[in-house]
Amino acid sequence: MAVALFGGTFNPVHNGHLRIASELAELLPISELRMMPCGVPPHRDKKMVSAQQRLEMLQIGIGHDNPALTIEDIELQRTTPSYSIDTVNLIRRNLGPSVPLILCLGMDALASISSWHRWEQLLDFCHIAVSSRPGFAAPKKGPLYEWINQHCCADLSKLEERPAGHIYFCDLTMLAVSSTIIRDKVKSKESIRYMTPDSVVNYIQQHRLYE
Ligand code: ATP
Repeated sequence: MAVALFGGTFNPVHNGHLRIASELAELLPISELRMMPCGVPPHRDKKMVSAQQRLEMLQIGIGHDNPALTIEDIELQRTTPSYSIDTVNLIRRNLGPSVPLILCLGMDALASISSWHRWEQLLDFCHIAVSSRPGFAAPKKGPLYEWINQHCCADLSKLEERPAGHIYFCDLTMLAVSSTIIRDKVKSKESIRYMTPDSVVNYIQQHRLYE
């Protein structure tokens, strides 16, 4: 069965991430959606949240009652940020050649994908599912437009028929929450309740993160 990847910094994970991940897990023809925290270079600032803490918040935020959501920590095993092309190449090698792999991106990421390292080869290793984001639209001309046009697919079942190569657009629920808003609210001693699961709120308080 197919696997999807949902990458992010998750600093911290919030209900916007969890809601969209859960909708993707229902919509896409997959058995597993792996939330994949990215590596961020260690910061000199001692108050910086560690990769381990981002990972722990993700684990407790996902909880135990949604078995379709799992964690892929492959990018945390390196100390430098990874190129997406290297990550999907490695995961493809682990999965074998025939399992469909779907990289989930927001429209904001798609709009700038042509600046990514070896972006045109991404579809050799995976499909791409793009979720809409207010304020961002797919390009209307140029090489990226051509690339999207060439690979765009409106039929979800086609993503199960081959391991990689299609781009699929989906309309999902964006919640008005971001990690930046959460960090800012903690800093200014405002409540972050209901923006992220209570377990994550408690973790942030216990570890005095973002203060
Ligand atoms: P920051 O505020 O620190 O930039 P963020 O809240 O945007 O962080 P990321 O970890 O950078 O979170 O995002 C990971 C992925 O989740 C991205 O693909 C992003 O488009 C998506 N995402 C972030 N916030 C939301 C949201 N509220 N609803 C849906 N998707 C979201």
